[in-house]
Amino acid sequence: MTQQLTWLATVLENAGLKVAEVPGWQNRGRPIPMGVVKGVICHHTGGSKNGNMPSLNLLINGRPELAGPLAQLGLGRDGTFYIIAAGRCNHAGSGIWEGETDGNGCFIGIEAENTGGSNNPPGAKDRPFDPWPAVQLDAYRRGVAAILKHIGVSAQMCCGHKEYRLPLGTKPDPHTIDMAQFRKEVQALMDGTALPPPLIKNKDLHDRPTLRRGSSANPKFLVEAVQKKLGFAGRQVDGKFGPSTEARVRQFQRDHGLVPDGIIGPKTWVEMDKR
Ligand SMILES: [Zn+2]
Repeated sequence: MTQQLTWLATVLENAGLKVAEVPGWQNRGRPIPMGVVKGVICHHTGGSKNGNMPSLNLLINGRPELAGPLAQLGLGRDGTFYIIAAGRCNHAGSGIWEGETDGNGCFIGIEAENTGGSNNPPGAKDRPFDPWPAVQLDAYRRGVAAILKHIGVSAQMCCGHKEYRLPLGTKPDPHTIDMAQFRKEVQALMDGTALPPPLIKNKDLHDRPTLRRGSSANPKFLVEAVQKKLGFAGRQVDGKFGPSTEARVRQFQRDHGLVPDGIIGPKTWVEMDKR
């Protein structure tokens, strides 16, 4: 059965976002159809600190006590939207937002990859703290804005799971995001009054350019030097900043407490100089 939300991919792509369609998404969903879509609930996955979207299979398949799919959309650390399902998903549980109590029936769920850990108190049995990459937060706001615009409602119809789920305090997600501020930013995007996202500086103090995947401005000798620092050897050191270099840069950034955006800007250069 083709499910209802088959517009998801087009709407996100038209908003200029990176989209990865999970095969079969148009036909995936719980057996009961959704009702009229009224808004979006924002979540974090609580998954592993490694990789771009390590929770993807869990979101597709669910777990023994909760059948999948667990969300229509996954949001990777690099800002890619994974389109998982076009039908109803098990993401909301019982709760209320703006008078709506059928969470799975009238809200689209977005699960953004993040450990949700606090490291507080240090040494507690907790997942590691996981700061949101700017590129992921930016995509989060833009994706929500595009969906709400498509269904014809204001930013007020986007809430955090922590605001929806009852009793309040049961759910912490999405952690460290001030949802009132998030809604303001989403509304500004919908109104066309948002400021452009801050750019990473083009050069560091030593005049080294910011390196990123696929950029034709990457000097080959600098990419080669980076690849060697990241443990590439032999023919792997090719001076081309492709997917494998990007993945290794992200891992390096995670290992050193940096935002894992896969881009070598001033802060990552400083950390690389210590290696
Ligand atoms: Zn949640």
